[in-house]
Amino acid sequence: MSAVDVRDHLHHLPGQGCSFSAQLGNLGARLRLANAARWQLPELEVEQDAFCHRGFEGKVSEFLRFAQREVWEARGRYPEASRAAFDVLLESLDAALSGEKDLTLVVRDPSGLSRLDAAEVKHFERTVRDDLALGVEYPRPTLQLNSAENVAKIVRRASRIVALTGAGISVESGITPFRLPSSSDGGSAIWAEFDARQMTVDGFNSDADIRAKWWAMKRKLLKEMSMAKANPAHCFFGELEKRGKLKGVITQNIDSLHQGGGAPCEKVNELHGHMRRLICSDHRTPLNPQPFATGECDYECATTACGDDNVPTCPKCGSPLRTETVLFEQAMPEGAVERAQCTIQESDLLIVIGSTLIVRPANELPAEALCRGIPVIMVNLDDTCYDANAVSLVRQPAGKFFDEVMSFLGDGDWHLDPCEESAHPTHPTSSDQHEHIPMESTPAALELDDGDSDDQLYGDDDLGC
Ligand SMILES: [Zn+2]
Repeated sequence: MSAVDVRDHLHHLPGQGCSFSAQLGNLGARLRLANAARWQLPELEVEQDAFCHRGFEGKVSEFLRFAQREVWEARGRYPEASRAAFDVLLESLDAALSGEKDLTLVVRDPSGLSRLDAAEVKHFERTVRDDLALGVEYPRPTLQLNSAENVAKIVRRASRIVALTGAGISVESGITPFRLPSSSDGGSAIWAEFDARQMTVDGFNSDADIRAKWWAMKRKLLKEMSMAKANPAHCFFGELEKRGKLKGVITQNIDSLHQGGGAPCEKVNELHGHMRRLICSDHRTPLNPQPFATGECDYECATTACGDDNVPTCPKCGSPLRTETVLFEQAMPEGAVERAQCTIQESDLLIVIGSTLIVRPANELPAEALCRGIPVIMVNLDDTCYDANAVSLVRQPAGKFFDEVMSFLGDGDWHLDPCEESAHPTHPTSSDQHEHIPMESTPAALELDDGDSDDQLYGDDDLGC
């Protein structure tokens, strides 16, 4: 058996997607599932979404053993109480492997690469979303404009700018990234020191040892955050807000440094939550949908109230305290992804900073811009799958780069000066490129507010969030 990765086939994909629903009674039949396929065993309520598996090619019997392994691994991640349900699944897969049970396999694969011997395959036209998910047919600029001066010019032309940021934007502020930003930098990552697979909501709620490890990790982060200051990349978006050009910030970070840099709280969509306060783990909130016990406690307090005990507990009900952050295997807060999609759809420039774009759903968000012809500026030390589609591709630390961008933009209103274009006819923007950069129709009259300090420290409790 082997894996089927659509990236190996992108240049010669079938023209249509395919789907089939078939019985798995013939254990010797050949099955091919591309990693772009969503597959289900409906009788067992077992399924894997597209790109959540590595793909599969081999006999049906090998596929059933593959499914068994996946179920067995999932069983190990859940508390004792839910294991009986996994055991039923494992028995059903055993029964299918011994020929006592005939399971149905349902497959939808936009890549069109999946098939099963003797199964009747239907074909369908790929949607735009399918194409984007497969990584084909994004518009590509003919020329990338990577200097700070050119990025400043693109910023002048835009009026509804959105940031999509990950750990890389905060490294210069002293925050350790959860994942290594660059394999060559020799730095340390949180997950290199702590075991991510254990840090699930179920793990936290059921295992005192995991809670102790989770709090050890949080204390390290809280210490860093108490000392961290917004860097020029964060402050750049605060400056955009002052000039009426900030549509929103979508961040995977929990460090509140965007707010520290001047982005208003209501414009910052924190996909993974934040560390601004502690709640009782039995306090049900959008960021804690799976409470510790009954979900009836409503205790919350300042993050600084966590004291020195390793795992602080709720003075009202005795449950452990936690931050409102998304734990491993926990869903994003309800509506956060949809809000992020809408923000990008209504923007005219997307700036991606310091996100390796390997975690869903953040890795799908640039596609929302690209399929609408909205230009994307990519400031990242690592490669991403969108690099070739970016109007600017910058491989520099973000703080240093945006400091330079701001010096080109100066202290004025950062709007397009109509004379500027004609005064610089040799500026390297190609006419093709030009079409991808929406022009601002009516520069708004702006009042600059210079009263705010950019030096606000995290932990002032004055972020108004
Ligand atoms: Zn409580």
